[in-house]
Amino acid sequence: MNMRIGFGFDTHRLVEGRPLVLGGITIPHPTGLLGHSDADALLHAICDALLGAANLRDIGFHFPDTDPRYKGIDSRKLLAGTVKLLHDKGYAVGNIDCTIVAEAPKLNPHVPAMQAVIAPLLQVDEDCVSIKATRNEGMDAIGNQEGMKVYAVALIYKRAQ
Ligand code: MG
Repeated sequence: MNMRIGFGFDTHRLVEGRPLVLGGITIPHPTGLLGHSDADALLHAICDALLGAANLRDIGFHFPDTDPRYKGIDSRKLLAGTVKLLHDKGYAVGNIDCTIVAEAPKLNPHVPAMQAVIAPLLQVDEDCVSIKATRNEGMDAIGNQEGMKVYAVALIYKRAQ
């Protein structure tokens, strides 16, 4: 079979004193995502969707958060590394579709900038990078702005030899 799909999920806590890095861009907001890397939950979910599609384990397997090399790392490098793993296994990215669950800030105005960052990393057209955002309607920890969640699916295909 030449096409495969994968699913990814990530969540990070929101805290004061961290920049909000999401989709490879920094968004003005009083709180930011907490993590060993820049905590870019969108890029992490995309990495896991791609790795899952290629059956290449997960982001923590390749880039463990116990490794000091990845402390504070720009997650665009993790996504580039993930795409390299796919290419090495003979796959190219088809398209991705993501949903960010965040109570605030409003993310839709930032989607074009995220697509402009992510598409070249995946080596696809921006039209192949779908990013959606929704609120959690005030419910539970996400609705209370204590964190964000991201879901992503990816389609990959075997490259011609
Ligand atoms: Mg993460």
